[in-house]
Formats: sequence, structure tokens, C-alpha cells
Amino acid sequence: MKKTIEDIDVKDKRVFLRVDFNVPLDENGVVTDETRIIKELPTIKYLLSKGARLILCSHLGRPDGEIKDNLSLIPVAKKLLNLLPLTKIKFSFQCVGEKVEKMSQELKPGEILFLENIRFYKEEEKNDPIFAKKLSKLADIYVNDAFGTAHRSHASITGIARLLPNAVGYLMGKEVNTMLDIMKNPKKPFVVVLGGSKVSEKIYIVMNFLKKADAILIGGGMSYTFLKAQGYNLGNSLIDEEKIPLAKEILEEAKKCNVKLLLPIDHKCGASFSTTAKAIVTSGPDMPENLIGMDLGPKTIKLFTKTIRRAKTVIWNGPMGVFEFDEFSEGTETIARAVAKARGKTIVGGGDSIASIRLLKLDKKITHMSTGGGASLALLEGQLLPGVEAINNK
Ligand code: AMP
Repeated sequence: MKKTIEDIDVKDKRVFLRVDFNVPLDENGVVTDETRIIKELPTIKYLLSKGARLILCSHLGRPDGEIKDNLSLIPVAKKLLNLLPLTKIKFSFQCVGEKVEKMSQELKPGEILFLENIRFYKEEEKNDPIFAKKLSKLADIYVNDAFGTAHRSHASITGIARLLPNAVGYLMGKEVNTMLDIMKNPKKPFVVVLGGSKVSEKIYIVMNFLKKADAILIGGGMSYTFLKAQGYNLGNSLIDEEKIPLAKEILEEAKKCNVKLLLPIDHKCGASFSTTAKAIVTSGPDMPENLIGMDLGPKTIKLFTKTIRRAKTVIWNGPMGVFEFDEFSEGTETIARAVAKARGKTIVGGGDSIASIRLLKLDKKITHMSTGGGASLALLEGQLLPGVEAINNK
């Protein structure tokens, strides 16, 4: 488990907080979605309440090491000031150098120094050690709360972390420590449910869980590549031909590892990929030539929900069908309800699965909604994320 802000004493200390304020701006430079700023408030408020002198650092867009006025963080700093009207927030156009070092030294407990876009410096993405050293001069403690960028080895993510006592903020702590905990000691039966269309993206997650999970349920578009590898006819369904050999290997490996790898045993198909397509249910895993698989069939829904119901740990990522079309949303919705009902710890990741849970108002029934995009997928694949590795363990 990683050290969190609650494990360190920040009173009167200059705390360098790396956040992810990479928010959308309109053409007038106005922040159009402040979700990421609002989500960061608990960490900021906690540190300020403990008497920290806070230095905020983020990237915005891809300026590629050049100063680009339309990617300045000034509008974001203004937004933060609206959200924290009683807090003194100063802005520095530089992220390194004597001027900003002096500003950091003059900062009082409870005040914020907001740094300009760190990616205006080409040294950031190169993880330049001299640049990281200069950044470290601004602070006594380093805190990382930018989980979405934890898979990158940049100066403000890994370089500086190695030079200062460090910890993770609330956002990153929840994501990382929940995952590490589950990966280390999952309560059994441990069931992983994967869906969505991109088999190439999720096949490595299947591989990572072969030795850890008791059952891996594969639905959605990605299941057809595995069924094809078993020799079934899948009509006009989505197939990733290139990944068929790897799918075959995984099916073999699953047998050796004694993990139940469950695939659809029937399907809901459509004659065309459209909102007007009517659902045709197959009796088994085979499909007629001209049909497209678009959702789980009723027998599969039963099999999957029964397995999820018995689980004490569940990870779910990816829809079970083309849930955007009403006629083919049953599989995804039923799985969402089953995951929410599971007794043990539940983690839901991926934009579509999270959207389904929210639509059904089941958010509160899920232990952790994993919103980290690429970084979350990397964790699920069992990759060591540089930004996480750089933080000390408890
Ligand atoms: P992903 O980004 O890989 O998680 O895929 C999400 C998308 O997969 C959603 O837009 C779904 O509509 C799509 N999807 C799920 N099942 C199928 C399927 N059977 N055929 C085609 N697309 C699917």
C-alpha cells in the first residue's frame, strides 16, 4: 500500500501537489467542464486544513515544450479561486527558477501557489534530472494525485518524487490502494467480467487475471474472437482476426490454470448494426451467416449473473453488448445490476460500464468506480506504473 497524505505531517511544509487539471477549455479560454477540479478539492482542502503551504502543478493539453497562450492554466486557477473564495491563490508564470523559489518560500500555511502549465517546459516530458531537481527546490514534500498520468515517467511525476518525501493524494490513493489490495488479497471467489469491442486492448487484462481470478467472464464484441478461436460460426460479428492465435493460447492457458473462462453460450443478434435492428436469439454459440452478434442471449445472462452473484470480489470493465441500442442493452444492464448486488468488493472501470452504473443509479453500491482511463487499464494489466512506483510504501 502506498503512503497517503494522512500518513505524513504537512504542517508549515511546502507541499508540491501534482494534479490532473487537464480540463476542456472553449475558444475563449473558459473552462467548460470543471469535474476534475472539483474532484481534487478534498485533497486540496485536507492539505490546507493541516497547515500546508501548497504548490499546485498540472499539465494542460499538448504544448510540446513551448509556451502556448491558449494552453495557459490561468483560467483553471481562476476557476479554483471561485471554488475556494476564502483561499489566497498566487499564480507563477514560471515552474522553476529563483523567482518562483522565492514565491514558494514566502507562501504562508493555508495559501496556494499555482504554477503555469508544466508542459511548457520540454524537460518535463523528457524527465530531465536537472529540471526535476529545480522543481524539488520549490517544496519539502511531494504529493501525487494525478492518477490519469501515472503511466508516464515525467519530471513532475517520477523525477521529483524520488527527490522528496512523498505520498499520494485521495484520488490516486483510492484508485491505487483499492486495486493493490484487491490484486494482493482478493476475497474468493474472485470474478473478472470483461466486455466492449476492443479485444486488442483487453486481452492483456485477461492474461493478467488467469492466475489470480476464479472466473473470467467475457462478453460484448470481444467475446467473438475467443469463440472464433474455438471454431464457432459468428456470422458477421466483430472479430479481431489478428488476435485469434493469442485467444487460442489464452483458452489453453486458462485450462491449465484451472480458471473458468466463460464465453457466451447464446446470443442476441441483429440483421444490421442499427437502432432499428430487431433482436434474434440464437440457441447456442453459433450464429447464422448473415447475423451480427450484439448482446448476450438469455442463457448467457443467467450463467453470468449466477457466477457474479456468488463472487466475493468483482472487477467489471466493458459493456456486454451494443448497449447504446435499446434492443441490445439488456445484457449490460443485467450485469450492472448483478455487480451492484454482489456481496464483496466491486470495482467498475471503463467509460461505458461506469455510465451504465450511473444511469441505473447504482453508484453507491459499487466499492470503487475506476475513472483513470489508460492508467486504470495499465493497472488491470498488472503493469507497474512509474508514477505509482515512485511513491513510498506505508
Ligand atoms: P470498448 O471501448 O472496447 O470498451 O468498447 C465499447 C463499445 O463496444 C460500445 O460502444 C459498445 O457498443 C461496443 N460493443 C459491445 N458489444 C459489441 C458487439 N457485440 N458488437 C459491436 N460492438 C460492441
